[in-house]
Amino acid sequence: MLVNKDRYSDLLKQLNEYKVQLVAVSKTKSVEAIKELYELGQRDFGENYVQELSEKYLHLPQDIQWHFIGHLQTNKVRLIASFIYLIHGVDSYRLLKEIDKQAGKYNRKIYILLQIHIAKEETKFGLDSKELNELLDIVQTNPLNNVIIKGLMGMASLTGDMELVRQEFRNLRSLFDSISSHPALSTSFSILSMGMSNDYKLALQEKTTMVRIGSLLFGERNY
Ligand SMILES: *Cc1c(COP(=O)(O)O)cnc(C)c1O
Repeated sequence: MLVNKDRYSDLLKQLNEYKVQLVAVSKTKSVEAIKELYELGQRDFGENYVQELSEKYLHLPQDIQWHFIGHLQTNKVRLIASFIYLIHGVDSYRLLKEIDKQAGKYNRKIYILLQIHIAKEETKFGLDSKELNELLDIVQTNPLNNVIIKGLMGMASLTGDMELVRQEFRNLRSLFDSISSHPALSTSFSILSMGMSNDYKLALQEKTTMVRIGSLLFGERNY
């Protein structure tokens, strides 16, 4: 058994109560493990590495919705543009432009989330609220044809201080609510991706709409 089936059904029950979507984070995990979860009905899977994702995509059913949740380099967009469903970590206009261009080549739309920096750590990627506004202003005057901005994504601090994590989630939710009326955004702006194995319960309380969960389902990762 490669996935914890009891945990999966238990998790789904909790998420359904809040009407929250699950992205099963399968990075470093085998095609067989993904198939097990697929057989249980899971269709949304998240990966961090372009090479690994492209490889898995070839060996798994076509109705999987693939999420890219890592930091995507501009020069790698073309490798996943033909099939990627939702890219979570977009934090520059340059990257948006490239996704738009590559999606256009395949005559398809790619959904994206803008990544917001909410953690205390300096190292994490993402925009602050000022940069978010500036980026949306640019999008408003330079519309994108093949990219649809579906929402925001954020990662809380890696800390045992759960009150800090809660506050970071709360700040992100409040930014999400206030920015949604920006003229560059449409009514399809509806996804807030926050919450992982260790902090998803807090994220549920702070009104997330999508959680990204790996180790809880697949076990710890060995890099
Ligand atoms: C790995 C990863 C996850 C899942 O982490 P778990 O702690 O295993 O649930 C979620 N989001 C991002 C961006 C990740 O890189």
